[in-house]
Amino acid sequence: MDSKVMHKISYGLYIIGAKKNDLINAQTANTVVQISSDPVTVAVSINKQNLTHEYIISGGYFTVSILDQNTPLSLIGLFGFKSGRETDKFSEAAYSTTVNGLPYIIDHSLAYMEAKVIGKLDAGTHTIFLGQVTDAEILQEGEPMTYAFYRQIKRGSTPPTAPTYQAIKEESSDKKVPKYVCNVCGYIYDQETGDPEGNIPPGTPFADLPADWVCPVCGAGKDKFVKEN
Ligand code: FE
Repeated sequence: MDSKVMHKISYGLYIIGAKKNDLINAQTANTVVQISSDPVTVAVSINKQNLTHEYIISGGYFTVSILDQNTPLSLIGLFGFKSGRETDKFSEAAYSTTVNGLPYIIDHSLAYMEAKVIGKLDAGTHTIFLGQVTDAEILQEGEPMTYAFYRQIKRGSTPPTAPTYQAIKEESSDKKVPKYVCNVCGYIYDQETGDPEGNIPPGTPFADLPADWVCPVCGAGKDKFVKEN
């Protein structure tokens, strides 16, 4: 089987929110799809290890925040590479809550919806939740982020718990200029593009990055990067 076939599927990029009693959590996900329109139902695939999974099971609802194309890597990284078990994600991101008290993201979110879980499918490492949409609102106009844009243009990475995760090496190119890979999240520093969000201009070699530069996705220091051949 050629796993690169999976790269031909197109996706968006979303933040999935959930609530368990008075606790809230949210995580990045790319697998959201509308299943039917009357009533409106959507499905999302969530890794069983994630705290958001526990909260969806417990609370019976989830939200979807639809991210725009200008979403910074740091926001995606905050919700995608840090666990709510260790980090209070909402202390670093603007959010509001639905009538049922579930969180959704305000900044860089084009719209949100809230859904009530009406079905679950065990998919091994993941659970596919089917949700009937109970509320939905446009927050701002803009272009939605696609997963391809995130990976190719923004140089974003994918945590091992994502359904679409594949070993980083599969996607690395064989250009002569060495690239440096974040050991923590898999983000690749490419000197051709630099790091626009960290004000690093294109053409800056990794060695010339300031000592206090950090991974734009997960915040790891330079010492967590390894040269990729
Ligand atoms: Fe990183």
